[in-house]
Amino acid sequence: YLKEKVTFRFECPVAHLCSDGKGENAVELESGERIAAEYLVVAPGRAGAEWFSNECDRLGLEQENNRVDVGVRVEVPDEVWNDITSQVYEAKLVYRTKRYGDFVRTFCMNPHGHVVMENTDGIVTVNGHSYSDPKLQSRNTNFALLVSNHFTEPFKEPHQYGKRIASFSNMLGGGIIVQRYGDLIKGRRTNAHRMAKSFTRPTLAATPGDLSLILPKRHLDNIIEMIQQLNYVAPGMTNDDTLLYGVEVKFYSSRVVLSKQLETKLPNVFAIGDGAGVTRGLSQAGASGVYVARTILSRLG
Ligand SMILES: Cc1cc2nc3c(=O)[nH]c(=O)nc-3n(C[C@H](O)[C@H](O)[C@H](O)COP(=O)(O)OP(=O)(O)OC[C@H]3O[C@@H](n4cnc5c(N)ncnc54)[C@H](O)[C@@H]3O)c2cc1C
Repeated sequence: YLKEKVTFRFECPVAHLCSDGKGENAVELESGERIAAEYLVVAPGRAGAEWFSNECDRLGLEQENNRVDVGVRVEVPDEVWNDITSQVYEAKLVYRTKRYGDFVRTFCMNPHGHVVMENTDGIVTVNGHSYSDPKLQSRNTNFALLVSNHFTEPFKEPHQYGKRIASFSNMLGGGIIVQRYGDLIKGRRTNAHRMAKSFTRPTLAATPGDLSLILPKRHLDNIIEMIQQLNYVAPGMTNDDTLLYGVEVKFYSSRVVLSKQLETKLPNVFAIGDGAGVTRGLSQAGASGVYVARTILSRLG
């Protein structure tokens, strides 16, 4: 549909964005070619986030990055969430805790899934996925419970905050630590003996340990309160054998300061998608493109 109306150019990386600050814009390709454009929409994705951040610095565009989400990956038998996951596959639930007024959210729910390790710049964190092939599916459901952290002046390195919390679990457990909810509530470590008795069989061979030595009290209180509330939605969440793996961390790209129209302070230069820190998923990235296209159309009259 689009190929009759749009000229696509592949395999031609953009080296630089150019703007006279008055609405005349252009891109300079690595080949040296220059393409002028009245309207410029930058959508570099995560792979191009660092390049875009450097371009913003060069062009004097202010960026902000004040968020990191820290929490645990929860694993329970499929039956606990089956009423919901059999209908909608994934439940997106956000809860504001009574104790601190913080937001805790479920993220990345994997029915019949597996808990996995990932390595971010040398720091091991936990994640989860599931397979469409029934032969590879487990009998557990896993999902993240994340507490959002927004920092204000003078701290400007939320990445470091997330990494350092994760590094405690790496130091104490040699990677990921797993704890039974019942042990966490009773203030005791999960050891190999208690783990062996757990009815929920872990899908990741993590080190049994004590998450209260790793996560800040505020995060732990928030997560426990959320689990207690989730028990009303998915009875069984507060079983002693609910497994909690730490630490899960979600890092965010720096976000260039944008207007409500997703326009930079350079006229007619817009930034959309994950690489600009505007979105974190396919549908929102697509929607941010449609949104900017409508703004440009309205300016063209
Ligand atoms: C393994 C994996 C699984 C995912 N699963 C899901 C999922 O299930 N659901 C979901 O919603 N999202 C998922 N995502 C995220 C989703 O892919 C992104 O949110 C989405 O693609 C972002 O769209 P975008 O247009 O911002 O960036 P992208 O789709 O990344 O496109 C950006 C493009 O710009 C190019 N580019 C970058 N810099 C330059 C440059 N200097 N010059 C020229 N070109 C450049 C890049 O090569 C890339 O082709 C997943 C991502 C990954 C990696």
